[in-house]
Amino acid sequence: MTLAGHIRLICAILALWMLLPVAAAVAQSANGARSMGGQAHVLEQGTALSVTREAVAFDLSLSQPVPYRLRLIGAPPRLVMDLNTISWGETDLQALADAQGLAGLRLGHLPDGWARLVLDLGGPFVISSSEQRIEAESGRAVITLRLRRAGLEEFEAAAWDEAQFLAQSVGDLLHPAARGAMAAVVARKPLVMLDPGHGGIDPGAEREGLREADLVLAFARHLREILLRRGVFDVAMTRDADEFVSLDGRIRAARGASANVFVSLHADALPEGMASGAVMYLLGDAASDDSAAYLAERHDRADMLAGVDLSGATDDIARVLMSVAWQDTQPRARALAEALVEGVAGAGLRLHRRPIQSGAFTVLRAVDMPSVLVELGFMSNPRDLANLRDPAWMNTMAEALADALELWHLRDQAQAPLRRR
Ligand SMILES: [Zn+2]
Repeated sequence: MTLAGHIRLICAILALWMLLPVAAAVAQSANGARSMGGQAHVLEQGTALSVTREAVAFDLSLSQPVPYRLRLIGAPPRLVMDLNTISWGETDLQALADAQGLAGLRLGHLPDGWARLVLDLGGPFVISSSEQRIEAESGRAVITLRLRRAGLEEFEAAAWDEAQFLAQSVGDLLHPAARGAMAAVVARKPLVMLDPGHGGIDPGAEREGLREADLVLAFARHLREILLRRGVFDVAMTRDADEFVSLDGRIRAARGASANVFVSLHADALPEGMASGAVMYLLGDAASDDSAAYLAERHDRADMLAGVDLSGATDDIARVLMSVAWQDTQPRARALAEALVEGVAGAGLRLHRRPIQSGAFTVLRAVDMPSVLVELGFMSNPRDLANLRDPAWMNTMAEALADALELWHLRDQAQAPLRRR
């Protein structure tokens, strides 16, 4: 394919993606506040605003963590907060501002899906701290923002001038490298999207009263806790309850949260004698093994049973594998799989005789983030099943995967300057 052909293809794929988060939000809004699959929204409980002459304290409580950016603008002094993919929900932020005697608060949505909040500060304030904390139990997040009164000179050094701010197209403005705003841009930690397989009407594998859907959800929650405790990554999950999330919905959740890496967690059953030990599956057009073909087909079938149309999925995978973006992502995904194998081996846990395999897994189709499907073990194998039932073994596995993610992230960062952008 010619370069122009590649570019057209990428544009078409990008255009399609831009539509996906909206569809995901609509499709999943019925799941309620605990759903991790849908769009983030503001929660009334935990959202607070306090304004004094010397300080502004703003806590914004969210149904799930989101990327966000902060800017100060002068004449008159305002705070601009942009959040990536959020709905303002029912919370009356305007009333909070009114109660604190703030001159004004405005909410809106930017054309590319970001949401914007503008606070009139009524005087020169600078940002003294900002942080997004995630509650491990609920998966909810709180953005804690503190501003302190400043002299005019200090404020002007920190603020954008409005003409300059408005002269930027939205795209330029929101680019992380937007000039001048770096001091006010809050760097976020890389976001790991954990994807516990199956759920709801799709229990996954079942052995001796144990359901794969429950097992991988418990494992994902534990891994989330370990990762958050270590502080290198933020973590979100495609589901945090026993509910059905389509394979496409899982990818959309990762894209909606701008995840940096996607890890799908499974413990499937295979026909007798086919597999044992942990395996890392990557997206590939041809299955590297009968078990890979079997698993990919089986996971798609659950979606079809739930009425999700996957008729285009095979074509999608072919397109992904041809795309230029995939040429960047594929080696990063392979490096992730290799790090995961190192982690599992390093912890002395069982690996499959071919620990890295590939297949047409619909859930691994995101082109812009490295994605791996991890089989922790196979419920069809008695030795694996005993391990999967053992909390100490599961803890060792979770620590091993956390080690591997950190190792991969370090290597991936080191490689970043060598990748074309
Ligand atoms: Zn599975």
